[in-house]
Amino acid sequence: MDKSNVAVLKEKILKLKSEKDVVILAHNYQIPQIQEIADYLGDSLELARISKEVESKVIVFCGVKFMAETAKILSPLKQVLLPVIDAGCPLADTINTEQLLELKKKHPGAWVVSYVNSSAGIKALSDVCCTSANAVRVVKNIPVDKVIFVPDKNLGWWVQKNVSNKEVVVWQGFCDAHEKFTLEDLDKTKKLYPDACVMVHPECRKEILQKADFVLSTSGMLSRAAQVEDKRFIIGTEEGIIHRLKRENPDKEFYSLGKEKICQTMKKTTLVELYESLAKGIYSIELSEEVIAKAKTAIERMISYV
Ligand code: SF4
Repeated sequence: MDKSNVAVLKEKILKLKSEKDVVILAHNYQIPQIQEIADYLGDSLELARISKEVESKVIVFCGVKFMAETAKILSPLKQVLLPVIDAGCPLADTINTEQLLELKKKHPGAWVVSYVNSSAGIKALSDVCCTSANAVRVVKNIPVDKVIFVPDKNLGWWVQKNVSNKEVVVWQGFCDAHEKFTLEDLDKTKKLYPDACVMVHPECRKEILQKADFVLSTSGMLSRAAQVEDKRFIIGTEEGIIHRLKRENPDKEFYSLGKEKICQTMKKTTLVELYESLAKGIYSIELSEEVIAKAKTAIERMISYV
């Protein structure tokens, strides 16, 4: 799309947004044009919390499906729109409700902890949810000794490493984008920038988590980059966050840990889909009252633990 078309489309989006009393939320991994037009930018939980606080009756969630579902669970009276209906999360899709029910049968008494990157159905079957930022704290707080952790195997491994007094049964799902970073990538990038601080997301492979300086959520990376005196950082997560890190810290340098990795479904939302979503009111997230109530309990328990 050439620059003049982008400008026209942006103008149309802003006009519709104010006419229809809509708020636009965008995840940190969205393309720069979406990040720039959004009212709020953040990770999935920050955005879900914001969706609860904003007064607009309609939320357009530029992200992937589980995020829009989480916003709907926390704000059931608002209309939540996902501009691209098949913008799913391959990690969330590694487990379905039948598989989780089977796992629960195999481990009676264990509490189910689901990472927020899971479907509303999985959250509804969980005792408590967690994010990449609070997973360790949540599991430490659980009043039983055995935990079923779904769906990410690397975050599950990180939790087990940091919570020695509980048994953690880990589902072997993974995120395609993060799994592509290798130790070889890390070694090569460190040789290029030996003084840089290495910050990686816990969805990266465990051998990378073991060698990083910090294992952080995207919001953790943003705060650390802004607060510390370090000038150079190697970032192990989806490339979209690098755009935001550079914008918010123009005096610092950020390098991707190896060739930049892209979450394909996060990039499906462009200004065209956002405009269509606003113009036509598509695609509305609908969940049953039962799923909303059960999933909300698991999310609220997480909030009470951290
Ligand atoms: S980056 Fe990974 S976990 Fe996040 S939405 Fe994409 S596939 Fe899912």
